Amino acid sequence: MSKNPIYLDNQATTPLAPEVFDVMIPWLRDSFGNPHSAHLLGRKASAAVEVARDQMSGLLPESGNILFTGSATEAVNMGFGVVHALRTDGRNKIIVLDSEHAAVRDTAISYEKQGFIVERHPIGSDGIASLAQLGDAIDGKTALVAAMLVNNEIGVIQPVEAIAELAHAKGALMLCDVVQGYGRVDIADNIDMAAISAHKIYGPKGIGALWVRNGIDLPPLIHGGGQERGIRSGTLSPALCAGFGQAAALCMERRESDAAHIQALSDKARYYFADWTINGSCNQRYSGNLNIRRQGVDVGRLMSDVRGVAFSAGSACASGSGRPSHVLAALGLDSTQIKSSIRLGIGRYNSIKDIEIASKLINEAVEVQLA
Ligand code: PLP
Repeated sequence: MSKNPIYLDNQATTPLAPEVFDVMIPWLRDSFGNPHSAHLLGRKASAAVEVARDQMSGLLPESGNILFTGSATEAVNMGFGVVHALRTDGRNKIIVLDSEHAAVRDTAISYEKQGFIVERHPIGSDGIASLAQLGDAIDGKTALVAAMLVNNEIGVIQPVEAIAELAHAKGALMLCDVVQGYGRVDIADNIDMAAISAHKIYGPKGIGALWVRNGIDLPPLIHGGGQERGIRSGTLSPALCAGFGQAAALCMERRESDAAHIQALSDKARYYFADWTINGSCNQRYSGNLNIRRQGVDVGRLMSDVRGVAFSAGSACASGSGRPSHVLAALGLDSTQIKSSIRLGIGRYNSIKDIEIASKLINEAVEVQLA
């Protein structure tokens, strides 16, 4: 097998933590019970699922429940279902930030087709939503406000607590996509729903979850055997759940050391890329995300020239679709600036050497381009 490139795309996905792999294996190999069966094998599997829920809940607000899903995208779709009940109170408006991930953005658009008014709220040139403008936009007709914690493309952190307060002041609910912040950035206690994903925290792919505040009723997303409180039927995978739980527990345990490590690597990267401009706020951001641009650079060419580094041009989630980055456009960047932007995603398993080698490879290729 050929050697992997230096991996600097930790917003797209993260490598599986070895501890997570170890926890998952017995549930795949030996303990194959259905967690919804009443016999001993089933109860063992069910206990593992509940341990995972406990481990994950340590990083979420109190007074709520975790519902497992197949991905954060599914969790967002599940959470949006809340608007159906609110519509009976005459609330037919949904507000999402213009910088939301496609999971939120496209789900919101699907509600437009069902007669809801969907407003994509602008962000400033720093990537942050203006609370004054949001306060004006949220009104008594608003059912749901969706604002993400950490942006997947530019790493900017939104003032989620204040946004939730604005939503509540008008009787609306607040859904927060915390996928890129879970386990790394504090999550405000006053949100109503939070979508999370295991593969962004060194856990397995194929599992996400929605945290829902007690007292909020959601309609079933998937009908069937009534699992996950009747909202998401289907047999759970104890291996995936246990892996998610272990990944969350590790994030809790390593929170300070991970943060210090990633900050040190990020500082190093900012030093090596001092000739580049940071997209979005320089300070109100998660340090593991460095989205930068340099005038005159053709990122398409850069990516094919620098095969030894796995990095991203704009959002990895959107890149497969061929769509230009709506987040960079929402910052006010023109198409040339967007095409000269790269995203470096730094994670737990990167080293200073990774940053040194990757920045050298990228900067050398850029100098050739600009010569
Ligand atoms: N929200 C954000 C901010 C993301 O970065 C992603 C994935 O890139 C998602 C949602 C979707 O997560 P999943 O892959 O679990 O559906």
